[in-house]
Amino acid sequence: MKIRVGIAGYGNLGRGVESALRSCEDMELIGIFSRRDPETIAPRTGVPVYSMEKAGDMQDQIDVMILCGGSRSDLPEQTPMLARQFNVVDSFDTHARIPEHFSRVDAASREGKKLSVISAGWDPGLFSLNRLLGQAILPDGADYTFWGKGVSQGHSDAIRRIPGVKDARQYTIPVEEALESVRRGETPELTARQKHTRECFVVTAEDADQKAIEEAIKTMPNYFAEYDTTVHFISEEELHREHDGIPHGGVVLRTGRTGFHRENSHVVEYRLKLDSNPEFTSSVLVACARAAYRLYREGQTGCKTVLDIPPAYLHPETAEELRKKLL
Ligand code: NAP
Repeated sequence: MKIRVGIAGYGNLGRGVESALRSCEDMELIGIFSRRDPETIAPRTGVPVYSMEKAGDMQDQIDVMILCGGSRSDLPEQTPMLARQFNVVDSFDTHARIPEHFSRVDAASREGKKLSVISAGWDPGLFSLNRLLGQAILPDGADYTFWGKGVSQGHSDAIRRIPGVKDARQYTIPVEEALESVRRGETPELTARQKHTRECFVVTAEDADQKAIEEAIKTMPNYFAEYDTTVHFISEEELHREHDGIPHGGVVLRTGRTGFHRENSHVVEYRLKLDSNPEFTSSVLVACARAAYRLYREGQTGCKTVLDIPPAYLHPETAEELRKKLL
């Protein structure tokens, strides 16, 4: 029998999960749940759309609910709420608040005797797993995470909030020299500025003071002040033509030494180059939904993260097949 999946929230990730499920023969999409009027949403697969309030009535029709809301205000509320009723998976990515989110979701899942997986995706998610593997295997070493080149939604939003700005895209770009130094096993100590640069493409209102906007961007604390930032003013048409995609990616590196005299060095590199950040993230969520259901079927309850999932549970084939074909 197929794993029956629901999608809660239909934005970029929701659409990504809908399309990722089409490549999974062991899973089927039952419906999409949204806070908006279902009549206003037309999913590409034609699957039914329900009001989020109806979700509770469909507990016996859904094995796992994949939560596709935003980390800032949707998931802190939606994940604990739905975790009482469903096995759930979310992509909560506010790193500093993960322990707090975990506690709330864990309590809700235990109360409902369900299984949840939080903070799935690529960072947090696959990158976290690779940091863990690097540290476990090479304890005498250092790890580095570089992001990009890719669009940061948070930084793009921050630019859009400046008066006179109509639209903006911000790319985070790793500094190639820093990356190469780490790859050579030099274990440099790097500041934020030495690791990444920021490039902004900005559309302004006609009468806007572009000099003042550039200054406001470059000096914005926590977003740009700590980085070397380049600002390009472009037309709305060029923004849509050249910068409508949501690419991203990055690299996790662990460098370490082994040997009685620390004479041998090792470099481990895990790299992602993604045309679509949300579609890739959604694909991770779908694999984690499979694992969540398997853990639940074993009788496990409470909250997990990618660090707690046995890797074979992510894959559609059985452990026996994987040992034969893949190990
Ligand atoms: P999004 O497109 O803004 O969607 C978020 C929610 O907004 C949707 O669930 C939807 O809820 C609502 N929405 C979407 N389109 C709407 C519209 N036209 N009008 C009104 N409401 C609309 O966000 P996203 O790009 O899917 O990203 C979601 C989260 O994923 C991000 O906040 C980020 O934290 C996380 N993320 C994590 C990773 C990772 O590696 N862990 C990677 C990428 C992203 P309703 O249907 O209920 O209205």
